[in-house]
Amino acid sequence: MRSRSLPIPLLIGLVIALVGGVRYCGQTQRNPVTGELQRVALSPKQEVALGLHSAPMMIARHGGELRDSQIAPYVESVGQRLVQKSLANKSPYRFQFHVLADKRTINAFALPGGQIFITQALLVKLRSEAQLAGVLGHEIGHVIARHGAQHLAKQQLGQLLVTAVQVGSYDSRDPHRNRNAALLAQAANQMISLRYGRQDELEADDYGFRIALDGGYDPHGIVELMQVLDEASAGGRVPEFLSTHPNPGNRRALLLERIQQTFPSPPGLPSHLRSGQPEFAAHVLAPALDPWPPQKRTQ
Ligand SMILES: [Zn+2]
Repeated sequence: MRSRSLPIPLLIGLVIALVGGVRYCGQTQRNPVTGELQRVALSPKQEVALGLHSAPMMIARHGGELRDSQIAPYVESVGQRLVQKSLANKSPYRFQFHVLADKRTINAFALPGGQIFITQALLVKLRSEAQLAGVLGHEIGHVIARHGAQHLAKQQLGQLLVTAVQVGSYDSRDPHRNRNAALLAQAANQMISLRYGRQDELEADDYGFRIALDGGYDPHGIVELMQVLDEASAGGRVPEFLSTHPNPGNRRALLLERIQQTFPSPPGLPSHLRSGQPEFAAHVLAPALDPWPPQKRTQ
């Protein structure tokens, strides 16, 4: 009697999947700030290097950096205050906050290792320092939670699993079947990335809430921020920030619930928490009314 063995392509596919799984599990590290055990593809040093290396590319893609004004140093100072006063000061990262001279894309994002960006288009939609703290706190949250490095590890695993399915399902007599299997595997990989992405966003909101509070800001600034984003999409053009982030309506409800739980009334919010509206108006809104970036005066 002949013993039945697995077809060779399926065997190779299984080995690739196994190697991918073992490598993914071997990437476990404890997060130095949050204490969480995570699977990440980079060391903190590599994250900083990757962020610094990629920053010029992101800046070039968004029309350069807004340097020639008091706006950029102001945003940097708000960001640094948030880092110093929150759990982010325990992190090994080098935080830098950039204002991008992009007047059309409403967005903010972070690279691994502490490079954080906000576009001019988003900045001029804000009305207070507490709202700005909401944006920067959320991005600082992505950095300290190491979402970039985590995402990279998942992508590497996903890519290997796609290869495993392609190899494992290879059938030289039926090329059509091969193509279908490969498409299915790609789609599964994308869905996994998307789901994790959304969880990451809610986690970043959570850190953003704590970071803004530690910085002395009224957390209602973050709720207002969600409203600003919501209104910006009413004109039909969905802000870039919303296409990568979950529905702001749900996030707003979650944040309001969180404020209620943290500060049940009475007495409600502590009186030292501020919105920083006058400071934001003086540093961002007043200069923004002038030609932007400010023109050099001729004598
Ligand atoms: Zn985010």
